[in-house]
Amino acid sequence: MSRVYNFSAGPAVLPEEVLREAQEEMMDYRGCGMSVMEMSHRSKMFQNIIDEAEADIRELMGIPSNYKVLFLQGGASLQFAMIPMNLMKNRVADYIVTGQWAKKAYQEAQKYGKANKIASSEDKTFSYIPDCSDLPISPDADYVYICENNTIYGTKYKQLPNTKGKLLVADVSSCFLSEPVDVTKYGIIYGGVQKNIGPAGMVISIVRDDLITDDVLEGTPTMMKFKTHADAGSMYNTPNCYCIYMCGKVFKWLKKMGGLEVMKQRNEEKAKILYDFLDESKLFHGTVVPEDRSPMNVPFVTGNAELDAKFVKESKEAGFENLKGHRTVGGMRASIYNAMPKEGVEALVAFMKKFEEENL
Ligand SMILES: *Cc1c(COP(=O)(O)O)cnc(C)c1O
Repeated sequence: MSRVYNFSAGPAVLPEEVLREAQEEMMDYRGCGMSVMEMSHRSKMFQNIIDEAEADIRELMGIPSNYKVLFLQGGASLQFAMIPMNLMKNRVADYIVTGQWAKKAYQEAQKYGKANKIASSEDKTFSYIPDCSDLPISPDADYVYICENNTIYGTKYKQLPNTKGKLLVADVSSCFLSEPVDVTKYGIIYGGVQKNIGPAGMVISIVRDDLITDDVLEGTPTMMKFKTHADAGSMYNTPNCYCIYMCGKVFKWLKKMGGLEVMKQRNEEKAKILYDFLDESKLFHGTVVPEDRSPMNVPFVTGNAELDAKFVKESKEAGFENLKGHRTVGGMRASIYNAMPKEGVEALVAFMKKFEEENL
């Protein structure tokens, strides 16, 4: 067996320990004679798996009891519609557009009401986070929407926007569980799990109780109502059982590692190794303003498209996978989520140094 250093933005690297455990339990989960993949979601065995997963993420994030944790399907992208359908009582919402994912959410919301773009960083290819201290928040806005970590462009909010008392909704797909978070600052905090938590195919939406009602937009499908899933403990229909099981294992791994404060330190340490090198390199440079750099997704370029392509090719041959930047940005991107070990980042920097010497 040989494992590569996988810098994919998502689906992404998982902790080896978690993969091994899943492998051991594949044929016979804890003496029940079947895999979790084959198990009824109505069984006691599976109920324990989902209950433990929920308890563990609650503990990790310190989720207050007046928030529901929903394990849903359709990825983060379906939340782009589900959020306005459930929250747009006045049919008005304010969006801060800091990248492709925020833009997609903003465009989707326009189908359901008046979505206002109250700030954007598109003028400089989303390479920064706009000043959000005094935005023109709409008086009747049902919520203010952000994408907290911009997976493609590599920016992250270091401070939440001033929503002037309006509800904050955040997509945290690519920074989920990367650091401690104050859940009470959000009405909804949600993310697809395939970036920083588990396998693809599920989104975890953490929704404040008072936002879970039958008062949704007319015509909202049953499956798109938060209340449907909240009332049924995320099992209105068959959930993504295996993904819930894997996420549960990652939550246990995070607890064992010391929780989110420790993950934050580790992530900052890893990011610093890479950013420090980018700042001193004569060949490579980062594409984001330093104060808004993401600790999770690190885009960089040489400034020469041919050399970028050569780097991607040679890095792959050397065992560094998925370093090619997003098709809309070009260059390179290293996603260094929770499960990427520090050694992976150190090895990448060593490889970049060597490439620089050979190509400068
Ligand atoms: C990947 C990603 C999405 C889309 O997730 P899907 O699960 O593919 O729908 C949305 N938002 C952010 C920030 C992402 O990184």
